Amino acid sequence: MPLLSPRNNGRMAQSAAGSRNSQLYTVEVGDTRFQILKRYQNLKPIGSGAQGIVCSALDTVTNHQVAIKKLSRPFQNVTHAKRAYREFKLMKLVSHKNIIGLLNAFTPQKTLDEFSDVYLVMELMDANLCQVIQVTGLDLDHERISYLMYQCLCGIKHLHKAGIIHRDLKPSNIVVKTDCTLKILDFGLARSTGTSFMMTPYVVTRYYRAPEVILGMGYKENVDIWSIGCIMGEIIRGAVLFPGSDHIDQWNKIIEQLGTPSREFMERLLPTVRNYVENRPRHPGYSFERLFPDMLFPDDNSENGRTKPAQARDLLSKMLVIDPERRISVEEALRHPYISVWYEDQEVNAPPPGPYDHSVDEREHTVEQWKDLIYKEVMDYESTHNSLGAAGAGPMAANANVDQPNAAQTAAPRR
Ligand code: AMP
Repeated sequence: MPLLSPRNNGRMAQSAAGSRNSQLYTVEVGDTRFQILKRYQNLKPIGSGAQGIVCSALDTVTNHQVAIKKLSRPFQNVTHAKRAYREFKLMKLVSHKNIIGLLNAFTPQKTLDEFSDVYLVMELMDANLCQVIQVTGLDLDHERISYLMYQCLCGIKHLHKAGIIHRDLKPSNIVVKTDCTLKILDFGLARSTGTSFMMTPYVVTRYYRAPEVILGMGYKENVDIWSIGCIMGEIIRGAVLFPGSDHIDQWNKIIEQLGTPSREFMERLLPTVRNYVENRPRHPGYSFERLFPDMLFPDDNSENGRTKPAQARDLLSKMLVIDPERRISVEEALRHPYISVWYEDQEVNAPPPGPYDHSVDEREHTVEQWKDLIYKEVMDYESTHNSLGAAGAGPMAANANVDQPNAAQTAAPRR
């Protein structure tokens, strides 16, 4: 049984239009013009996000499929610029099997004046978790659910080791392959995010944000456990757990199901927030047996088939805890019986990435300064990785750290 449905193939018109040493060509993908290196052929749209369009392509140098994301004028406003700069810096820094890896990066423009677009070439995955959850009738079994959650936890733990607390994990930013391998696509919210104004019509999904993020409290690493719990609960329930239309509605959805939190938790809130939260109608909440009844769990005929739903529910009841002081930690989740069957020390405790310079997150610059900073980062990448070097001759060709794509549809997780 393959995990996923085939990717949606888009139509496009290809036309050659060389620039930058004739190594580039132009291809229209839907309404978007991609001006990319000739080594990347056969582009097909596979997704879009706040930053732009993502295509699949064949890398004719390595003969592997890749994903190419076009960042169109990433410096167009300060929010976009900071996000693009941070993402690019972090993609260069982090290397872990459960975090998307950067294979190449380039700009087709020749000078800072002309500079407009950045292309990020990444490992290609098959679908995001939203798409997996939405495939009706695709009931994932415990083996797959627990393996997906294990990989999420490994990726998040690795980010934590670099001092990056994500705070915005969601199914659209988690991608999987048919062999059930999983990678996290982005690096979440910058530390200073609360102050920036999102100048885009793009709707931000907040369903997975933890109570401490919604309520503007301090946070620690297990803020990401909440999101992972929401994602696991959604896979099991087949519907978003807390689909709030705004922060207030979001909070209502949480307390209706999980119950009004303790007085001790309330005392840690900012006075104005506390006043609001304390004056909401009190909810007793439901037991996890009611929230996730037996009928939601996949039938499991294996020998420990009866223990798995109980373990999954127990894990959910420890992750979906409003008070972070009472919520399970990442390490504890990795040791939970539902997850620990997959525990491999080299995956959980992979060597940490180099230190991340958090001043990036606090930096305030003008659009022109961001343009300059992003351009310099791309130039630096191009020169150290020979991005525009002779096809096949550059270090990228030899070093492409892509997992070997396996065209065969492997049904079950490893083991
Ligand atoms: P993003 O712009 O990073 O938010 O990505 C938007 C969407 O494009 C994601 O939700 C995925 O569906 C898809 N996508 C992005 N990167 C990849 C990738 N490396 N492999 C497969 N799909 C991807």
